[in-house]
Amino acid sequence: MEEFDVCVIGAGFGGASVAALLAHRGLKVALLEKTARAGGKTQTTERKGYRFEMFGAVGIPAYNSRFHELVDVLGIADRTPFVVPEGDAASIRYLNKDGVWKVSYNPLVATGSEKEMADMKATLGVTDADLEALAAFYGEILSLDNAAIDALDNTGAFEWMARFDLAAPLVSQICMNLNTLFVVAVDRLPASEMIYALRDQVLGGAGRYHIGGYGHVAEVCAEYVQERGGLYLTKTRVQEILVEDGRAAGVRIDGRDIRARTVISNAGIQPTVLKLAGARHFPAAYVERVTSLEPSWAICGFRYVLDKRIFDAALIPVFSDESWLDEKRYQDMLKGKWPNVPLIAIDVPSEFDPGLSDVPGHQLANCQVFMPADTESALVDEAIARCEAVIDELWPELKDHIVRKEPYGAKQIASMSRDVAVPGCGGEAVGIAQVIGQCGRSKPDARTPLPGLYIVGCDAGGKGAGTHQAVDSGFNVAAMVAADLESA
Ligand SMILES: Cc1cc2nc3c(=O)[nH]c(=O)nc-3n(C[C@H](O)[C@H](O)[C@H](O)COP(=O)(O)OP(=O)(O)OC[C@H]3O[C@@H](n4cnc5c(N)ncnc54)[C@H](O)[C@@H]3O)c2cc1C
Repeated sequence: MEEFDVCVIGAGFGGASVAALLAHRGLKVALLEKTARAGGKTQTTERKGYRFEMFGAVGIPAYNSRFHELVDVLGIADRTPFVVPEGDAASIRYLNKDGVWKVSYNPLVATGSEKEMADMKATLGVTDADLEALAAFYGEILSLDNAAIDALDNTGAFEWMARFDLAAPLVSQICMNLNTLFVVAVDRLPASEMIYALRDQVLGGAGRYHIGGYGHVAEVCAEYVQERGGLYLTKTRVQEILVEDGRAAGVRIDGRDIRARTVISNAGIQPTVLKLAGARHFPAAYVERVTSLEPSWAICGFRYVLDKRIFDAALIPVFSDESWLDEKRYQDMLKGKWPNVPLIAIDVPSEFDPGLSDVPGHQLANCQVFMPADTESALVDEAIARCEAVIDELWPELKDHIVRKEPYGAKQIASMSRDVAVPGCGGEAVGIAQVIGQCGRSKPDARTPLPGLYIVGCDAGGKGAGTHQAVDSGFNVAAMVAADLESA
């Protein structure tokens, strides 16, 4: 019988980071992952000489992130170098109100230089007075302390932004950024989450990548668990959480039990509670709350391998004033009323790390749009087709340089992440939606009502955008579990 201090289900960024941090504290850890590699939704895959993520992945903030803390604490920074390209590595394609595509190029870490301000005026068609209002918006964000930000958990981001009376194109740019960061409607996103993320972005920039593939950090964390005497198994699906005498006692994998004093699940709060442990082990009100949690949207699009450099920047958002989504616009989209340009987020991993392709000069790119988290949603085909039409218009030569083109959507996301435990969920790009009522003090506690069972990753324990949130949760849950084990 194998006995561990901690058993972690899933090696996404939440699971891999909490496992490594607890191993670092001297605990005996088992880390079990159902797919072939660590990294979850940002897993790096190798196929025919190309290494790429299954879905787009870049780190925000670029500097001063939870990822920097993670590799420093574990002493693994030299095994998984980070890269933030210099120069104008970001670009925007903005369709203005006159129907003209405007293009600009900027650094990933904004400096506020005269050139950047002039570019913004020319691209977005805004004035000096508009830029002053924008400066007031960011000035207020930078001036708030954490307690003042936390007090905004129940204020909508869009509502908070309204008093700065920003020009429409600036609203479009900020809201497009927020949609991309959180994958939820901007009017339902809490102002607190917005302010933390934009503060991080102003101070630390947007657009970090990890050499060898974004998921490499999770892989090194998983190896670290083994190096510290722990167990790391891939292609190992946890079928059940063992419950004995009213507490989590381990997990069951293919006919084998792994016993542990504590179980931490990165498999999603709904699959963990409703399927792996079973609703019967939790109070009815908790089960009801977990069942009713709303997922973030999914992201669908194309993964491209191109035989030529088509995209001339690492990050390229494509948008108009109609593209960003509040709840009304999103609901309209579900009913078939589409914006002139669906919000497209293009990221180009090979611009960060040219070594991702064995063939010099080949380009790897993701072109992505939003769709519901429902793995059965019929919207995926239309969303992808509308994305492709805009890409064709802006980069007409792309179609002649395709080596591989792989469409993906909610179904593919679920296969790299969580099982469907509630209808309409499973393909969420992030985790439970970061909307008012599900964030800050209203976010589910990482400590579940079943003693010995914790949730890690984007469903509990952290804040921030995407993988940054997952690693934030990894740190917070590691501290929580270590303290609980010590006091037991
Ligand atoms: C298309 C797309 C684009 C994105 N772009 C970005 C981006 O640019 N930047 C960013 O920071 N974030 C991005 N995100 C979001 C980011 O990927 C997620 O927020 C983050 O990876 C979630 O991490 P997690 O640890 O919560 O869980 P996950 O990544 O979902 O990991 C869960 C892990 O648990 C495993 N698992 C589940 N069930 C079991 C089981 N029963 N037994 C064993 N293992 C199990 C899964 O295989 C998986 O490895 C994007 C997501 C998508 C889909």
